[in-house]
Amino acid sequence: MHIGVSAGREYQKYHIENQKLFKRTAMIFDPFVLPFSLGFFILFFLVIFKFSYWIKRLSPRDRYRLNKGIFSRKIFGVAGEIIMESLLHRRIFKRNLMLGYMHMSLAFGWFMLILIGNIESRIHAGTELNPPYYPIFFRFFVSGEPDIPSIELFTFLMDFFLLLVLSGVLVAMGKRIFSRAVGMKKTTRLRLFDRFAMISLWLIFPLRLMAESLTSGTDGGGGFLTGSLGNAAASIFDTAAPAYFFWWAYSCALGVFFISLPYSRYMHIPTEIFLIALRRFGMGNERRYGVYQEVEVFSCSRCGICIDVCPLATVSPQRKTQAAYFHRSVRVKQLNESDVFYCLSCGRCKEVCPVGINTDRLRLSQRALLQSAAKQAYDYLPQNGVRKTARVAYFAGCMTHLTPAVKKAMQQILDQCCNDYVFLDENASVCCGRPLLLSGRNDEAQALAAYNRKRIRECGAETLVTSCPICYKTFSENYNLGIRVMHHSSFIYEMLQQEKIAILKDDLSCVYHDPCELGRGSGIYDEPRHLLEASCNLLHTKEEKQNMSCCGGSLANLNDYTTTGREVAKQTLMMLSEPKPDCIVTACPLCKKTFASVSQIPVQDIAEIIARRIV
Ligand code: SF4
Ligand code: SF4
Repeated sequence: MHIGVSAGREYQKYHIENQKLFKRTAMIFDPFVLPFSLGFFILFFLVIFKFSYWIKRLSPRDRYRLNKGIFSRKIFGVAGEIIMESLLHRRIFKRNLMLGYMHMSLAFGWFMLILIGNIESRIHAGTELNPPYYPIFFRFFVSGEPDIPSIELFTFLMDFFLLLVLSGVLVAMGKRIFSRAVGMKKTTRLRLFDRFAMISLWLIFPLRLMAESLTSGTDGGGGFLTGSLGNAAASIFDTAAPAYFFWWAYSCALGVFFISLPYSRYMHIPTEIFLIALRRFGMGNERRYGVYQEVEVFSCSRCGICIDVCPLATVSPQRKTQAAYFHRSVRVKQLNESDVFYCLSCGRCKEVCPVGINTDRLRLSQRALLQSAAKQAYDYLPQNGVRKTARVAYFAGCMTHLTPAVKKAMQQILDQCCNDYVFLDENASVCCGRPLLLSGRNDEAQALAAYNRKRIRECGAETLVTSCPICYKTFSENYNLGIRVMHHSSFIYEMLQQEKIAILKDDLSCVYHDPCELGRGSGIYDEPRHLLEASCNLLHTKEEKQNMSCCGGSLANLNDYTTTGREVAKQTLMMLSEPKPDCIVTACPLCKKTFASVSQIPVQDIAEIIARRIV
């Protein structure tokens, strides 16, 4: 007690001296600001270094886009997205309220503390030349109530946002211990620097609360939170010396957090801002691993949202293939080759990612790096091209040839509605090249595309119809054909609308499964549903459209295909069977084949449903 009182007196004396000094020079210093200052400058220089390194490695075209974008109207879009996503975390809110609140309270609350702290300290000092630590430790350097206009409002806002951040810290701690309470089955495991950063982050705000409260217990001032807590503490013990201890501890926690940040997942905080700018300035379409993809990897906050939605998370929980783990492995250069190839490319992780990271493309770019350059020539393929010319060209694709009922149904529909069509691969042909792309063999895929492109152009078609969503996506995105490419569900729907076919509705009850490549991959959700509503009784399922599960038969999973595929198919079938349909309908020959191998309920393609009901 004696030591505490004497230290308190020393502290008060020192504090008054400092106040005098401040009035004279507008500069204040105390040794406890050193840990914060050191961390701040290390962080500042590391982030500048990293960003400069990325900018330097941008291609000349992308650097031009960046320079142009900064001085264009797009910059307002960047600012808007930063506010909505990096501060308010709108997308996480949409997905999970509790998680959204946690991220928002930490990011927005801290941002507001910095902003308001800077405003009040600048008004008080009357100068812009304050050292960076001054607004952070303002309540230490200015004892009692700072002499500035509307001080009550400032103290109220500072306490309010401090309370907001503290509530976020509480939820974050709860999430680590009881992840299910915040609606998550799993949270990501932390590496050493992640632990340092996370623990120091959790400590920063309780320490700040203690430091500010105990100082207001000694000097007066403080808002509804710090003032009340300080008064209560001062009525029990002398708060001066403990306050000084907490200012040191607060500064140390900030310093540790700043030094750990560039090596931890929290690097996503500055990087996400850069990613938003690059994306809005038109970058990010390359297939090869480059600066944009690297920025994506560093922007992953490891929030874990992508883990629960991954169909592989339940069928093989021991494997760490999900986007959160995958980004971490790429970042620390410890990529497990089998995990690179163990993925369905179903796009669910991409769909839910609040940062908008395109993990599918990122994984394919990593596959390309791992593939040896085995050039393939296609000169063994027939070179004489397609003899017949027609307005519509139909490309069934390999998987449709393996599900003859789908091919037969499409031929029946085409015969009915379109007398001017050519069946491009009637006697079988080569594939569209998607399996090569999925395995990372981009050059070989390009050679195959050149062969197919020539054949398609030779037949002079204005519209190319495909039955397989995989072919549809490949022809639309990678071929640059300059003609209309349609999936058969859109084509049949158009024929129905133009009254080139007529169908009779019956009372067959069915559910519809959105194939990954057609739904999330190409955005076609409505046409198959319109067709089913017109032809039978469409029931709703728990997961629909963007949230639909994969069938498990993906060509993209090049590792442990059969066991995993069957397990994922069973899982999805359970969900699809819940409304007790007579039939499961899909719009992909591969999905049909995969489901049919494990389903008790009949599985049909949308083309079969329509072909059987044509009048
Ligand atoms: S990939 Fe997206 S959803 Fe998954 S952990 Fe990273 S930020 Fe979260
Ligand atoms: S693409 Fe699908 S299977 Fe692959 S990691 Fe993402 S959610 Fe999992």
